[in-house]
Amino acid sequence: MKDYLCEDTIAAISTPIGKGAIGIVRISGRKALEILKEIYRTKSGKKKEEFEDRKMTYGVVVDDKGKEIDEVLAVYMKAPKTFTGEDVVEIHSHGGTVVVRKILREVLKRGARLAEPGEFTMRAFVHGRIDLLQAEAINDLINATNEMSAQVAVNQLEGKLSQKIKKIRDKLLELKAFVEVGVDFPEEEVEIMESAQVKEKLNEIKRQIENLLKSYKDGKILKEGIKVAIVGRPNVGKSSLLNAILNEERAIVTEIPGTTRDVIEESVTFHGLPLRLIDTAGIREAEDVVEKIGIERSLKSIENADVVLFVIDGSQELTEEDRKLVEKLKNRGNVIVVINKKDAGLKVSCKDVKDFKACVEISAKTGEGLEKLAETIGRIVMFEPEREIGSDEAVISNERQKQLLEKALESVNKVLNTLEGGYESPEFLSIDIDEALKYLGELIGEVTTEDMLDIIFSRFCIGK
Ligand code: GDP
Ligand code: ZN
Repeated sequence: MKDYLCEDTIAAISTPIGKGAIGIVRISGRKALEILKEIYRTKSGKKKEEFEDRKMTYGVVVDDKGKEIDEVLAVYMKAPKTFTGEDVVEIHSHGGTVVVRKILREVLKRGARLAEPGEFTMRAFVHGRIDLLQAEAINDLINATNEMSAQVAVNQLEGKLSQKIKKIRDKLLELKAFVEVGVDFPEEEVEIMESAQVKEKLNEIKRQIENLLKSYKDGKILKEGIKVAIVGRPNVGKSSLLNAILNEERAIVTEIPGTTRDVIEESVTFHGLPLRLIDTAGIREAEDVVEKIGIERSLKSIENADVVLFVIDGSQELTEEDRKLVEKLKNRGNVIVVINKKDAGLKVSCKDVKDFKACVEISAKTGEGLEKLAETIGRIVMFEPEREIGSDEAVISNERQKQLLEKALESVNKVLNTLEGGYESPEFLSIDIDEALKYLGELIGEVTTEDMLDIIFSRFCIGK
C-alpha cells in the first residue's frame, strides 16, 4: 500500500530516456530541501544555506563523512508548482550508474525513502497537478514503441481525453438540472421533459461515448502493435519477407527480458501499421526454426499472433510440407496466405488457395505487393493503416477506461429507455444520470479508491 497522505519524502533515480550519460536523482516531499542542504557543498567545500527556487547550482555531493562523491548540478523547486505538487529537488550527475546510486544512497540515509513504482506520478495526481487519465498517459508515453502511440499519449497527457470526458459530463449535468426542475416543480412545465430536446441531448451524449469507445481498438493496437507471426516451410522466403518489412523503416529491436534468448520481437511501422513481429529470431538465423525444431514449434508462435502470414513459394508447385501447413492453417480467420517470388513467375497463385480469408501475391525481392499486404493486415484487424493521429484526437487506451465508459453508456441507455417508456417520475431519470456521472468521474479520477490507485500506479517503473 502506498503512502496516500504523502507524508514521507521519496527519492529515486529518474534518468531521462536516451540520455545514458546523465543520471538524475529526484527527491519529492517535505524534507527535500533539508536533505539537499545536508549532502550538497559548493565548489569551495562550503555548506549552502540558501537555494533559490528553480535555479540550477553547480557543486558537489558529499557522503556522511564529508567525502566528495561527484560534481553535480542541483535544483530546488518549491511547492506547489512542481510536477508532484510538493517540494522537489533534482540532482543531476554526469557520472555513470554507480555514482548515481551512491548519491541516491546518501539521500536515503538522510531521511528519504525509495519511491515505489509510479509514486511520483501518484503524488502529482493526489495533489491535483494531473488527473488520472494524464497519469496513465505518462506511463503510456514511457512505454510507447511507435510515433503514433506516443502522439496518443501526448494528447492524453495534454488533457485532450479529459476535456472530452468533462464536456460529456457537463452536458449530463445540464440535463440533470433540467430533469430536476421536473422533480421540484412537478405541476409546472413537465412536458419539457418529454420534449424531443431531452432525447436529442441524450442521444448526442450517447454518440460521443460510443465514438470514444470505438477508439479503443485503435488505441490498443497503437499501444501494443499488431502481433504478426510469419510461418512457412524452409526456403519460401520468410527471412526475405521479414527483412523487406523491416527495411521499410528502421526497426526497433526489443529483446524481451526474462524469456529465452532466441525469442525476439521487432517493432516496426509498415506502411503506417504498427507491427510487432513475434518470434523472429528463428527466421533471422541462417537456418530456419522450421528446419531446426520443426513445424510444430513454428505453429506455436501463431497462437499469440493477431495476424499470421503463411508464406508459400509461388515459383514452385506446392510441396507435401506446404499442404500439411494448409491443412493446419486453413479456416483460421487471421491467416493471410502470402504467395512469394512473384518476380520469378507464379506456378501457384491466390486462385489455388481457396480456404483462406485473405491472400496476397508478392515478391520479397522486388517489394511488389508489400503495400497490398499492409492493407490486408490492416483489414484483418480492422485498422486504418494510413490514419494519422491528429494532435487533438482523444483515444482511449486501456481496459479501465473502456469499462467505465461502457458502464456510463449503459446508464445513459437506461435513461433513454425510461424516456421511451413514458416514465412516471423524473426521479428515475435523475438516478441513472447520477450513475453515468459517477462513472465519468471515476474515469478522470475524481472518485477513487486506494485499491484502484494501487493497481494503476503499480504498473509504472520506479522513478516516474
Ligand atoms: P526462408 O527459409 O523461408 O527464410 O527463405 P529465405 O528468405 O531464406 O529465402 C530462400 C531463398 O529464396 C533465398 O535464396 C532467397 O534469395 C530466395 N527468395 C526469397 N524471396 C524471393 C523472391 O521474392 N523472389 C525470388 N526470386 N527469390 C526469393
Ligand atoms: Zn529463413
